[in-house]
Amino acid sequence: MANGDGKPRKHAAKETFDKRATAEMAANLAKTDQWGARQKLALTARMLAREGHGAALAGQITHRGEAPGTMWTARFGLGLEEIRAGDFLLVDADLNVLQGQGMANPSNRFHLWVYRARPDVNCVVHTHPPHVSALSMLGVPLVAAHMDTAMFYDDCAHLDYWPGPPIGDEEGDLIASALGDKNSILLASHGQLAAAATVEEAAMRSMFIEYAARLQLMAQAAGTIQEIDPKRGREAHDYRLKPEPLNASFHYYARRVLIDEADCLEE
Ligand SMILES: [Zn+2]
Repeated sequence: MANGDGKPRKHAAKETFDKRATAEMAANLAKTDQWGARQKLALTARMLAREGHGAALAGQITHRGEAPGTMWTARFGLGLEEIRAGDFLLVDADLNVLQGQGMANPSNRFHLWVYRARPDVNCVVHTHPPHVSALSMLGVPLVAAHMDTAMFYDDCAHLDYWPGPPIGDEEGDLIASALGDKNSILLASHGQLAAAATVEEAAMRSMFIEYAARLQLMAQAAGTIQEIDPKRGREAHDYRLKPEPLNASFHYYARRVLIDEADCLEE
């Protein structure tokens, strides 16, 4: 761009603004360390239920356990909108219950495959929300071509084959392999899975993938989606995934839940 005198305008380097924004967000945005891991999992279940992720008993939210090969998972039989922090069971690598009352969802086995394949992952969220489910029926990958969905830019795998209900080892192996080094995956004829280092990131990925799928279905119905510039896409991906705004977004959705569902924090 040029000034009226024809000379090019000088812009400060974008990195300068990025550094300042990051420092200010770290100092000012809400933090999430007042909640324990299982309380965060329960808050995740409740915020996802409010966004329409509930599909009867389908979907699971899990966290890697402290001992190798273990994970925390909500007892089977509850809808997302019912789950409390005290409903999480500690299970071993064969879904035997080590702590808590009840049983794990038999379809939880594929989470164990993800934890085994990805030492960087501590939380897995898997749901069947309507727009993701509709997109998963078209056999096309998720397209991240909007600023608000850039966390999926080059960071959402696609499993284009449905292996049936994921109750066995074959399905777990297939899903973990298709996920590769990404943090989200669209599962054909099934739903979505988010795998992240923190509960906050897995939760926000699950919230936003439903929004991304909804936008994609609307855009595809109206015309041809224009891909975004890869450099800008990667830049926006990294910006959206900074822990400070991610945690603040989690806090925002948690506040909405806690207005009338504070019981979800009971352990
Ligand atoms: Zn499922």
